[in-house]
Amino acid sequence: MDKLAIVVPCYNEEEVLHLASAALREVLDDLVRKGKIAADSFILFVNDGSRDRTWELIEEEHAAHPVQVNGVKLAGNVGHQFALTAGLLTAKDMSTVTISIDADLQDDVAVIEEMIDKYHAGNDIVYGVRRERKSDTFFKRTTAQAFYKLMGAMGVKTVYNHADFRLMSKRAVEEFSKYKETNLFLRGMMPLIGYRTDSVYYDRKERVAGESKYPLKKMLALAFNGISSFSVKPISLILGAGIVIILISLLAFLYALISYFTGHVVAGWTSLILSIWFLGGMELLAIGMVGQYIGKIYIEVKQRPRYNIEKVLCSGQSHKEDALCIENREG
Ligand code: UDP
Ligand code: MG
Repeated sequence: MDKLAIVVPCYNEEEVLHLASAALREVLDDLVRKGKIAADSFILFVNDGSRDRTWELIEEEHAAHPVQVNGVKLAGNVGHQFALTAGLLTAKDMSTVTISIDADLQDDVAVIEEMIDKYHAGNDIVYGVRRERKSDTFFKRTTAQAFYKLMGAMGVKTVYNHADFRLMSKRAVEEFSKYKETNLFLRGMMPLIGYRTDSVYYDRKERVAGESKYPLKKMLALAFNGISSFSVKPISLILGAGIVIILISLLAFLYALISYFTGHVVAGWTSLILSIWFLGGMELLAIGMVGQYIGKIYIEVKQRPRYNIEKVLCSGQSHKEDALCIENREG
């Protein structure tokens, strides 16, 4: 039977912690009753250096429900993406499947069952996707849409309208753990893992209590991080701009020559204006060229896994191969 860990990052969530715990325990009870998950499935609260009573509340919950509620206390505030990663990597060794969800219950816990069903149907990652952004302000909705578009244009694969409400199998988390990068943008990394994936759809609700821990500043930082951690396209844009400007300056060169010979110019203007454009173009070109190398260095230092082997079909001729085949058969 599959043992589920529900990973919940919490930063100053004292208003919602008991509510979240109760709602998630109810989901666990229900799934256990239906025989879909093991009875020792649990919630893993990750306290992300909260300055309020969040950790005390997690301890209380653990004392009252020692099997169903567990906790991880981070030594300081490291931000949602790191807190979630800490939770997933801790949960990986204690469970066979994980679901990550925010503490504020904005994501619909009712679709967790559907996620589990899709996992049992053979999916390794199941994305929770928001149906419509009715509960969001016009501002948040349009900026979010612009963000997904921009990400797409920059060549970063993301799942539209999916945040970090997601099911991951143990082997998906294990593969994820091989990504050692520090600039985390989790929802951009998941599609790199591969395996079969599916989505479930839900309506995102209002926060049950407390206020958002993601002010505009943090949102913009996350968006910029998303692009700069996945794409070296901005560098190529500089290179492209350099080439375009050099081409323009060549056209301008023709124009200036014609103007010069027809005599409609102030002395010195021609050589000056042409130098400005041409040199400007050359400088951008040079920066863009250097940038190409920096972009490559950047990709190399990430040391991301280059592929993820899902299965090997073999009979095992040598000792070494045997081990691989047996491992594969067990997996
Ligand atoms: N969170 C966190 N560390 C932070 C900020 C937020 O662990 O530094 C958690 C927070 O407790 C919540 C989740 O990340 O469980 C999402 O935050 P929030 O609901 O405030 O974001 P919003 O839904 O407003 O975008
Ligand atoms: Mg929220």
